[in-house]
Amino acid sequence: MDTTQLALLALLLGAIIGAGASLILFAAFRARARVARDAVDVVPEGVTAVLEAMDDAAAVVGPSGVVMATSPSAAWLGLEAGEPLEHGELRDLVRNARSGATETETLRLQRGRMSTDSRLVAARATRIAERLILLIVRDLTEQERLEQMRHDFIANTSHELKTPVGAITLLAEAIELAADDPAQVRAFTARLSAEADRLGRLTGRIMNLSRLQAADELTEVGDVAIDEVVASAIEAHAVQADSAGVELVRGGERGLYVRGDAQILKEAVGNLVANAIAYSPRGSRVGVGVRAVEGVVEIAVTDQGIGIAEADQQRVFERFYRADQARSRRTGGSGLGLSIVKHAVSRHGGEVRLWSQPDRGSTFTVRLPLSEAPVIEVPVKKKRSAKAAVATTAKKGRV
Ligand code: ADP
Repeated sequence: MDTTQLALLALLLGAIIGAGASLILFAAFRARARVARDAVDVVPEGVTAVLEAMDDAAAVVGPSGVVMATSPSAAWLGLEAGEPLEHGELRDLVRNARSGATETETLRLQRGRMSTDSRLVAARATRIAERLILLIVRDLTEQERLEQMRHDFIANTSHELKTPVGAITLLAEAIELAADDPAQVRAFTARLSAEADRLGRLTGRIMNLSRLQAADELTEVGDVAIDEVVASAIEAHAVQADSAGVELVRGGERGLYVRGDAQILKEAVGNLVANAIAYSPRGSRVGVGVRAVEGVVEIAVTDQGIGIAEADQQRVFERFYRADQARSRRTGGSGLGLSIVKHAVSRHGGEVRLWSQPDRGSTFTVRLPLSEAPVIEVPVKKKRSAKAAVATTAKKGRV
């Protein structure tokens, strides 16, 4: 390499380093609180430092109603240094604060002038200097959503529990009234035990779902053989398939593994198999196929059943949502199966995809991060080696 080439290389390196440094400086500048001047007023340095450290959207508003400094997260609300306050509700709050009032108000604000996205916020304006007002806006939207979810869950759960509990009470009364008629007593008792079963399944599912929703992390994590998950889901529903006249077939790759909780995954795939059978006609087929694609294990449960209308395809994963009310109740459905599947899979860092067409059938595909086959310690016969054990992959031992 001659000196001209060396000089060119040095120049190029210099340019790259310079550009990188400017980018870093630019990013650092953007993350800081933004400050603008309003006439003669200046935001005190300490206030700017506090703004910089704030998670909430906050702004210092000058005497002319112009924003003078903002916290880094104020942009989502359209608060910008040098610009007037966009929201009339916030302008009112600032005006009141100038006359000494400091109240926290709960407001619903649009995210931007053109936006249809409204956010629930708690806003408070306080005078911090002769002519400066500090405005703090806390976004309560997520909190409100969680509260609504909790509220709906309790309301739905009590509604769902009322039906079997009511039926059990009525049947118990009927048995008492029919005490002298053994045939009737037998019939009522059979129905009573069916309702009790249903109640047991429903409470079991509610508990599973709340467990899945409550914990952020899985507690029982290990290497999970997908072969075992699929075999268990199929075995657990063989009787249901038989009595529904549906053929269960398994296909695809073997010997694949994921990290996670085997029991939770067995239940999730089992729920998909149970649905596939329940929503399929006699004489049809339900297939469970497995494959690995680009670091992901796909378990696809396919049926030739009634299918799901496009409008319902997103909603079927919601708790207690049933696309086909009558059929779901007839088959003892709780409307919780798919919700459990969705939470179970997302706890494993995966997702569930759905393809469906009414009267053609559905395919639910569980996608999970593929993991290496586990290394199993196999004791070695004394003669062959002095070492106690040899590592061999689980794949070798598989069929
Ligand atoms: P359920 O216990 O009612 O089956 P799920 O949460 O498992 O509750 O399913 C929600 C709804 O999605 C069902 O009520 C049904 O309408 C629809 N659904 C689920 N799986 C299928 C399927 N394989 N084919 C057709 N519809 C289905």
